[in-house]
Amino acid sequence: MSLTLDEARALHDEICVLDLHADTAKLMDKLGYDLALRHERPLPRRMSVFGHVDLPRLREGGVAGQFFSFWTNPYPERGCTRSVVRQLDALDAAMARHPAELAWTRTGADVRAAKAAGRIAALGGIEGGQALEGQLDAIEAFARRGVRYLGLLHFSANALGRPAKGRGADPAQGLTALGRDAVRECERCGVIVDLAHINRRGFFDALELATLPPMVSHTGVLGVHAHWRNIDDEQLRAVADKGGCVGIIFARRFLGSASIDAVVDHLLHVIDVAGEDVPALGSDFDGFVVPPIGLEDVAALPNLTVALSRRGVGPRALEKILGGNVLRVLDAVPAWGRLASPS
Ligand SMILES: [Zn+2]
Repeated sequence: MSLTLDEARALHDEICVLDLHADTAKLMDKLGYDLALRHERPLPRRMSVFGHVDLPRLREGGVAGQFFSFWTNPYPERGCTRSVVRQLDALDAAMARHPAELAWTRTGADVRAAKAAGRIAALGGIEGGQALEGQLDAIEAFARRGVRYLGLLHFSANALGRPAKGRGADPAQGLTALGRDAVRECERCGVIVDLAHINRRGFFDALELATLPPMVSHTGVLGVHAHWRNIDDEQLRAVADKGGCVGIIFARRFLGSASIDAVVDHLLHVIDVAGEDVPALGSDFDGFVVPPIGLEDVAALPNLTVALSRRGVGPRALEKILGGNVLRVLDAVPAWGRLASPS
């Protein structure tokens, strides 16, 4: 049964909608981007690569929780820890200025409580293991500041492993010894392992070690569009076997089309191959990507819900795709891991 836009908005009000990946904190740190202001799109649509997310538009899109992903210039592997700290500081500062609007969250219960209190739930993730600068201790320090996932790789090789493509790519090399230790340390500290951007060999190395559900925070799938950035059916099934989730990216070049229906195609492929407990949203908003038509910013998210319903996705699967699967993973990977919780 297809939903009207109003019905889609009503559904978003009722459930918890979560997105796994937006690069907004870098804009806040570097450009003084004010998360509390509504930003008009700064560039024409076809080149609108950032300015997709702010609090008014998160509300308009019916989003309960947004993962802010902290990315760093991956080469050289220096100054990266400091860069993540600055992005965390920028998000903390926004929260201090707008405590009634924005709340740090770590767990499914936190997200639900924030929503009930009328606040947008902010969650943290890191994109690229270069953020550790080779120091495993950094994982605990970041976890204590609220980081809930660590993307092991980004666009270049780092001390943990090799990227799917980019500087230092090598399909024959998997995780390094430090990369393996990083997976274990993440689990100790309650940090979810994010397998976006990692090469295939490293992907399976990490899954073999993982005892807790992993995620792929933002990706397309090869079953729909052949692109080096996308993951294949075996990878999808392997994530499903570990109880993880896969966020589908809203980037034309990885989707293979400028149509909002391409996002639906990728999500439905995940369901076909790995089941309805796996798909999630991983927009990559503000990450120098051009989103599809009809999904230009986070305010437009209910359009995707309408598009999914038109393709036969029912309310139960919609709830899982839009946030339920992410909540499940948040609950399955305890926020403080085996660290002593501060509370
Ligand atoms: Zn990325």
